[in-house]
Amino acid sequence: MPDPNSNANAPTNPGDEAPAGTPGTGEDVCPACSGSGKTGDGQPCPNCGGSGTIVEAIGGG
Ligand SMILES: [Zn+2]
Repeated sequence: MPDPNSNANAPTNPGDEAPAGTPGTGEDVCPACSGSGKTGDGQPCPNCGGSGTIVEAIGGG
């Protein structure tokens, strides 16, 4: 049974599809801010948490 208090395996940011280091995933430029890490208003991008990159699943086949 999953531990609801454990956040160890949760994606870091809303734009992440998986936690960093998950097999079959990789970092990519955040599509929401194009890698700038900021929104048009100069605020940290909520999709990537301001990092400019997200973790996404790498297409299999
Ligand atoms: Zn972003």
